[in-house]
Amino acid sequence: MIEVIGLTKSYGGFLAVDDVSFTCQPGRVTGFLGPNGAGKTTTMRVMAGLTPATRGKITIGGLAYRDIPNPGRHVGVLLDASAQHAGRTGREVLMIGAKTMGLPESRVDEMLALVSLTPTEAKRRVRNYSLGMRQRLGIAHALLGDPSVLVLDEPANGLDPAGIRWMRDLLKQYADRGGTVLLSSHLLNEVELIADEMILIGRGKIVAQGDKKSLLAERDGGTLVTAVD
Ligand code: ATP
Repeated sequence: MIEVIGLTKSYGGFLAVDDVSFTCQPGRVTGFLGPNGAGKTTTMRVMAGLTPATRGKITIGGLAYRDIPNPGRHVGVLLDASAQHAGRTGREVLMIGAKTMGLPESRVDEMLALVSLTPTEAKRRVRNYSLGMRQRLGIAHALLGDPSVLVLDEPANGLDPAGIRWMRDLLKQYADRGGTVLLSSHLLNEVELIADEMILIGRGKIVAQGDKKSLLAERDGGTLVTAVD
């Protein structure tokens, strides 16, 4: 379980994330939905320990980040897959992660197979990958250390409907084994196929959260669309 408690992040005087609180439960896939600039990436960067909060805190399993010996090992992250490691091969990218975490080479092969990147594809440079392949590689990288929490920023970006179904099955399997998943999107139809829970954010503030079915019922009544816009 990962908990975001009263998270505020400001850049200069600008409040990118304003007193945001939510919990992502083990065994559940939570969709994080909002338009461009709403504060999703900023929230996820703080959750991944990549940038400090201005106020508020993140806890994992009830423990504050500072009290967890190696917090990075507990949270697997996918952020902006399009910009990562363009000059390296897919295999090299995973090998660097495996070395950093002290994992055997066999774990790299396992992850490549899991995301259906063939040995030939794994030898190609990432700059020659399609966006969908980069997303698969990014997801493999996020899963390398077998984290208890996955934080995925726009993982469906670049995936076709078959790719989105593939990701749904992968994340569902991970959640069924007790994993906690948060994934963001600015498109409701990308998230609604995959998520059990949904959190809606707009201009740095949470506008709705709850289980998917009740939020989609609100959408059908018109409330949700208004909230996201
Ligand atoms: P997108 O889908 O476009 O990535 P988002 O919901 O992820 O949107 P963020 O990237 O978190 O939104 O950005 C939230 C706000 O914070 C935006 O107005 C953005 O311009 C601003 N912002 C983000 N990072 C910085 C930064 N390093 N310095 C200044 N402002 C920033």
